[in-house]
Amino acid sequence: MAGKKILIVEDEVSIAELEKDYLELSGFEVKMKNDGLEGLNEALRANYDLIILDIMLPSMDGFEICKRIREEKNTPILMVTAKKEDIDKIRGLGLGADDYITKPFSPSELVARVKAHLSRFERLTGSEKVQNNIIEIRGLKIDKTARRVWVDGEEKQFTTKEFDLLTFLAENPNHVFTKEELFQKIWDMDSIGDIATVTVHIKKIREKIEYNTAKPQYIETIWGVGYRFKI
Ligand code: CA
Repeated sequence: MAGKKILIVEDEVSIAELEKDYLELSGFEVKMKNDGLEGLNEALRANYDLIILDIMLPSMDGFEICKRIREEKNTPILMVTAKKEDIDKIRGLGLGADDYITKPFSPSELVARVKAHLSRFERLTGSEKVQNNIIEIRGLKIDKTARRVWVDGEEKQFTTKEFDLLTFLAENPNHVFTKEELFQKIWDMDSIGDIATVTVHIKKIREKIEYNTAKPQYIETIWGVGYRFKI
């Protein structure tokens, strides 16, 4: 189970840090978000194996976050609550949370729960077997594991950043990203360059994946805003 990625959404930093320490000791990769909306965005942006979600959070509560994640993903969600009343709500609302744990809890109990849910999820999805992570949209096939791309069965060569940019857009379809956002996501924040780099890369990607670059069927330009991957 080592290397599994866990997201902790918890505004009490001391609790989040404690959870993180224990999970890391068990070999998990852990990321923390202390704000509700940031937590939701992170959960939707990246692929986590499990999410530990507090209920009372700034900007968006855990109930809403859970609901929104479930609209897009089936990642196991372990909800954390300080109030007994919340338990009925978690059960009653049909939010799709997999389990809940009440504060205060011992870190070892949390780790045990996390492991149990990961095993259960693996049994259900068969994700334990080694399988390449593949995205297929119409004639476009992206093998994230092997970092290879095919267009209508023909393999195309991509540079590292072109591949990262294409994959990021394809994994977040129908979402408009500004050039600034894309630059920040794909290039190191402190790297030297400017957002024109994004335009250049989009152009190169289109030349490889589009039939007609003037009428792109995959990456659409949203004038004055940025780009969107169409599905
Ligand atoms: Ca809280």
